[in-house]
Amino acid sequence: MAEAAVEIVAVGNELLLGETVDTNAAWLGRRLAAVGVRVARRATVGDTAADIRDAVTEALERTGAVICTGGLGPTPDDLTKPVVAAIFRRELVLDAALLEALRRRFEARGIRMAPNNRTQAEVPAGATIFPNPRGTAPGLLLEDERGRFAILLPGVPAEMRAIVDGSVIDYLVRRWPARPGPILHRTLRTTGIPESTLAERVADLLPPLEPLTVAFLPSAVGVDIRLTSWGGLPAAEARRRLEAADLALTARLGGHLYGRDAQDLVDVVSERLVAAGLSLSLAESCTGGLIAKRLTDRPGASGFLTAGIVSYSNEAKVALLGVRPETLRDHGAVSVETAREMADGVRARTGARAAIAVTGIAGPDGGSEAKPVGTVWIAVAVDGAMDVRHFRFPGDRAEVRERAAQAALALLLEHLPRAEGS
Ligand code: AMP
Ligand code: MG
Repeated sequence: MAEAAVEIVAVGNELLLGETVDTNAAWLGRRLAAVGVRVARRATVGDTAADIRDAVTEALERTGAVICTGGLGPTPDDLTKPVVAAIFRRELVLDAALLEALRRRFEARGIRMAPNNRTQAEVPAGATIFPNPRGTAPGLLLEDERGRFAILLPGVPAEMRAIVDGSVIDYLVRRWPARPGPILHRTLRTTGIPESTLAERVADLLPPLEPLTVAFLPSAVGVDIRLTSWGGLPAAEARRRLEAADLALTARLGGHLYGRDAQDLVDVVSERLVAAGLSLSLAESCTGGLIAKRLTDRPGASGFLTAGIVSYSNEAKVALLGVRPETLRDHGAVSVETAREMADGVRARTGARAAIAVTGIAGPDGGSEAKPVGTVWIAVAVDGAMDVRHFRFPGDRAEVRERAAQAALALLLEHLPRAEGS
């Protein structure tokens, strides 16, 4: 088999019903890409013998290599093992060592081993057993005389991952020593700029980046630009090119670029606040504590966060933040004036040097012609300086709130001193 490529067959009715999201195939895709093994195709089938058989047979004929997840348990709906054994014309035989290990596992937990667990110790004759450090069903490898193979893995994600990292990757790497380079990515994370504007701004930089490919991945909180080397380059060269592409794009993205790869906006904001020795407090209306949640999801928030006040009603804005009743009467709760007074108020009352205030209309009700749903005012105060901005966010209630929280963090970032070397 020339090419290092596999197909993935995910088995389980719960996947077809949408009750379980197929995270296994996604995780496998990333893991295999990192070692230069291409996923040529993915299929999902239910717990039905004929469907599993067809999917695995087709994958073996087409690509000659298939990884199955799911359907390896001890219950009658677990059919992957007997079905794939039959494709390879193998009997299921009881493996004494597996049975003993299973007995000990149950004994250690003080539970009687149900008889149907014996099937867990049955393996197709001649199969290679990949140990499962996290559960009872081991991974199994079947190969035929033409070098085609199937790897069977349990569906439970933690078990599947442990077997892949413990055994499967080693097997694939040994099987395909002359694989192409790894598939490598670099993601530049931006916010506050629409996908189309972003694409236009960097358009002339993209063609020379080949063979790297560029993808724009929009979401409610921003647009990620993902650069990929698909394995045509050796690892060191791919890394050098990704670095160079990153530099070229960075110069064009200005303040919209906030981080790379898995870095979240709160990571960057938190690090900058700590580096600058600034304390922060929050006055949230339509985001209802979302910004506080995001900041405190991350350990170390106590290093800068003073307080967050969810001032939802007008009365609370007056009583807790000192917003003037005349401001609310003359301009409304969703206004530049109110946002400014909220930020001033929370800063004065908590003694923090920096503050964020958010007031807006998340919907679905409460909008008007002058202030439609999605209207949000965000104020950021750092020491003496104040910046208040108006936004009109699209989307439903959840999306407006999410976008408002992200825009507030991005606006704060604009006003934080850059840390050394960033
Ligand atoms: P099974 O090995 O088929 O008994 O699967 C055990 C459990 O693993 C299922 O109940 C699901 O919760 C989970 N699972 C199965 N397949 C997947 C998958 N492709 N992605 C994520 N979770 C899965
Ligand atoms: Mg299942």
